[in-house]
Amino acid sequence: MSNKQFDFDYICIGGGSGGIASANRASMYGAKVAIIEAKDLGGTCVNVGCVPKKVMWHGAQVAEAINLYAEDYGFDLDVKGFNWAKMVENRQAYIGRIHESYDRVLGNNNVEVIKGFATFVDKNTIEVNGKQITAQHITIATGGRPTIPNVPGAELGIDSNGFFDIVEQPKRVAIVGAGYIAVEIAGVLSALGTETHLFVRKESPLRSFDPLIVDTLVEVMAAEGPTLHTHSTPKEVTKEADGSITLHLENGQSQNVDTLIWAIGRHPATDSINLAATGVETNSAGYIKVDEYQETNIQGIYCVGDIMEGGVELTPVAVKAGRQLSERLFNNKPDAKMDYDLIPTVVFSHPPIGTIGLTEQEAIEQYGEKSVKVYQSGFTAMYSAITKHRQPCKMKLVCAGENEVVVGLHGIGFAVDEMIQGFSIAMKMGATKADFDSVVAIHPTGSEEFVTMR
Ligand code: FAD
Ligand code: NDP
Repeated sequence: MSNKQFDFDYICIGGGSGGIASANRASMYGAKVAIIEAKDLGGTCVNVGCVPKKVMWHGAQVAEAINLYAEDYGFDLDVKGFNWAKMVENRQAYIGRIHESYDRVLGNNNVEVIKGFATFVDKNTIEVNGKQITAQHITIATGGRPTIPNVPGAELGIDSNGFFDIVEQPKRVAIVGAGYIAVEIAGVLSALGTETHLFVRKESPLRSFDPLIVDTLVEVMAAEGPTLHTHSTPKEVTKEADGSITLHLENGQSQNVDTLIWAIGRHPATDSINLAATGVETNSAGYIKVDEYQETNIQGIYCVGDIMEGGVELTPVAVKAGRQLSERLFNNKPDAKMDYDLIPTVVFSHPPIGTIGLTEQEAIEQYGEKSVKVYQSGFTAMYSAITKHRQPCKMKLVCAGENEVVVGLHGIGFAVDEMIQGFSIAMKMGATKADFDSVVAIHPTGSEEFVTMR
């Protein structure tokens, strides 16, 4: 396929979830491909996101099994301690193996991996490590970076990247933020035994989720930790003589801790790639505008993943968009494109949350109150039911129209994270409540509740 006019048929800037997926897929169809990565292959997800987070979440599950449940299952344990550094060492070794596997797969596909920071020279030319290279098609997949608030002393806190650098377990931590990252990190730290305070500026965390989910999460936090502080907006951060940090809030309260973590959202990494040289349009926040085929306003320049305007910041979304783009460009599939509807998502909170589609309120806004019917279920997760630490599991189906098409599915509780992937297929196929009911339940499981609600 190689195009003599250019050095490469295709260059991906950013070797994260979207860039790697797109580069590999393009090369499989014979394109001459390069990928440029400034740091480590795998990007946010592998190095400072999904992977290290999930390893630590599993560590937290082990801690909960030991501390909350083991005794009532008859175990008389003598636990000598928890070695945070050992968990981190094994986590990083695992990430090292993922890097090796990326190197191997990209190598097998003949994708040229260029280590360095890329900037645009013009719409077909990129400068990296002082050299200029050209390509017919270029995809920007440079992801995002954590946002730090503009309050005095903010630099005394760390962000989610810094969290993964911690080598010794902090004793007392404050986390500021109300999204996925704040909730997940707070849950992990609390379960592992750190005194953890979560500060949200409004009435609850995860405000965009269905209220059933949020209320249950808050209920479990009250019972098991972390300590949730609502209506708490940061005002200032100060360092004390003993080296500790104090977070001062607009409401007059304050909290002294060893470590402060900001988790207030992320912003796109488009500021330093000299995008101006291409004429590619961004919105005021720096997110790149694309059409439904991931193409920017400049022909031949595309964008996938966290930096696109209106996207969904999840690894499988970046991966799928990147692959679909390569199918379109290099496999003669002119209609191939990412479908951003009904994307399933899990928050690895304690307990985990799984959600697909519309919340009850969103369904009412879209279909009208009369057309929406909601089914709910609540029970104690069997895993915890025989113990002193009984934990709720709550589920909701949001159905719309006469046929009761399932337009929203929400759950929180033990193992919900592993329950919802299959239901997302059913919902993509337009399943109705009657379809859900037609399925024989698997007993005894939590997921059977989704097909037996009345
Ligand atoms: P990235 O993966 O961020 O990759 C961008 C890459 O581009 C980076 O490696 C960067 O170094 C490189 N780069 C940037 N600028 C340049 C340049 N000019 N030249 C060369 N290279 C450059 N999603 C999930 O689905 N599940 C999860 O459990 C999950 N957990 C997360 C936990 C945390 C703490 C965070 C922060 C995110 C999490 N996410 C999760 C989100 C997920 O990580 C992102 O949606 C995903 O990584 C986005 O992929 P991307 O390709 O757009 O960008
Ligand atoms: P989010 O955008 O999810 O949440 C950040 C929240 O912090 C905001 O919604 C806001 O909530 C609050 N906030 C914003 N500014 C401030 C401020 N100045 N002070 C205090 N609070 C503030 O961002 P995250 O960083 O948590 O995560 C980024 C994205 O990464 C997620 O949206 C998700 O797509 C992805 N991700 C996915 C995971 C998964 O799949 N399991 C895990 C981790 C991340 P409010 O308005 O309520 O105050």
